[in-house]
Amino acid sequence: MEKRKKFMLQEADIPTQWYNITADMKNKPQPMLNPQTKEPLKAEDLYPLFAEELSRQEVNQTDAWIDIPEEVREKYKIYRPTPLVRATGLEKALDTPAHIYFKNESVSPVGSHKLNSALPQAYYNKMDGTTNITTETGAGQWGTALAFAAKTFGLELAVYMVKISYEQKPYRRSLMQTWGAQVIASPSMSTKAGRKIITDHPNYQGSLGTAISEAIELAMQTPNCKYTLGSVLNHVALHQTIIGLEAEKQMEMAGEYPDVVIGCFGGGSNFSGITFPFLRHNMLGKKNTRFVAAEPASCPKLTRGRFQYDFGDETGYTPLIPMFTLGHKFAPANIHAGGLRYHGAGSIVSQLLKDGLLEATAIKQLETFEAGVLFAQTEGIVPAPESTHAIAAAIREANQAKEEGKSKVILFNLSGHGLIDMSAYDQYLAGDLTNHEVTDEEISSILAQN
Ligand SMILES: *Cc1c(COP(=O)(O)O)cnc(C)c1O
Repeated sequence: MEKRKKFMLQEADIPTQWYNITADMKNKPQPMLNPQTKEPLKAEDLYPLFAEELSRQEVNQTDAWIDIPEEVREKYKIYRPTPLVRATGLEKALDTPAHIYFKNESVSPVGSHKLNSALPQAYYNKMDGTTNITTETGAGQWGTALAFAAKTFGLELAVYMVKISYEQKPYRRSLMQTWGAQVIASPSMSTKAGRKIITDHPNYQGSLGTAISEAIELAMQTPNCKYTLGSVLNHVALHQTIIGLEAEKQMEMAGEYPDVVIGCFGGGSNFSGITFPFLRHNMLGKKNTRFVAAEPASCPKLTRGRFQYDFGDETGYTPLIPMFTLGHKFAPANIHAGGLRYHGAGSIVSQLLKDGLLEATAIKQLETFEAGVLFAQTEGIVPAPESTHAIAAAIREANQAKEEGKSKVILFNLSGHGLIDMSAYDQYLAGDLTNHEVTDEEISSILAQN
């Protein structure tokens, strides 16, 4: 019998609620702390920075299910439900007994999973009467998603874009501008945080941590302006669970259940999104699925970082977050997976990793591009450089199944496509890409500055 390739849901199947895993966790994530008083933060403490409902979602550890507003669900229909695909071409090329599935989040109009959280964040800000929002963006995907979401709900948006990406990925900048956002290369001279870092390091290529500092500073100084974040925070992970909730239904259509679920890892939002709904069944004692976070070897917070309270940004404007971190002063190498160049992991994933409920693996840049090219050639989709980390991890799992002569069901999240990252592929194909690794000395010296 011909294997089925695609598992499609109907609009009516789009979930009506997001899944809040903290309600089901035995060991809850530790609270965020006020850096001055070291007091745990309550929702009200976050109101100056974030929309009120987002602040409440951030600290909610009791409600397992949170309603998706109908206005947001309507907008999700532009691109959701997204397909679940059996990667038969990739399976064949690997000659593996494993069954490989991927959830295709690259079909969103912005080309990545980021829109899943951008839409509700813009919506809740609009409901609060906010007129302007700010944010940072690394490779440009979050800024792009938020630009479309802000336009959709009638908000003005200013985006601080990490300088290296601003230069390497001009088309993401054009996309943001097309959707009406204002884009500023970070570090910039428009904020105190930016001016300080330019003065200290004139050639600094920027990082997410610095861009976050700039965006927060602008939000704090502008009336009716709030800040938004595209990863790391609990409410972002919450919104992204729509990925796994759909995938759960689609795996059922395929008549299989994953033995291993994989996501690439920047701050953890797409990984949380694909894994939490499945992890729930592990926590309820019903399943024994493995969960693998695939991070870059050049930014190995999960595999080599330390679990401690740290700032989410370079300057130290954010609350203290309990996280696996390389230190907020860590400046990652200029790898092409810009969305993974972040020093820390969200507090929920960090707690789950600490408790042994998740695994993490670090992958070097060349292995990820090799995986990305094989995926493009066998499945037709050119993956985002970030997503190639998940593909590389899936290939490792499939090769292991082959060695052991065992079948295995692998599910990974294809977080985005790479059509706007072709300069990275150009470099890879020309043989100009290199591996970057950090030494133990570098890591401990940065952590010592905390
Ligand atoms: C931003 C991004 C990531 C990394 O962010 P997470 O919050 O860890 O998901 C991964 N893939 C793509 C395509 C992205 O845009």
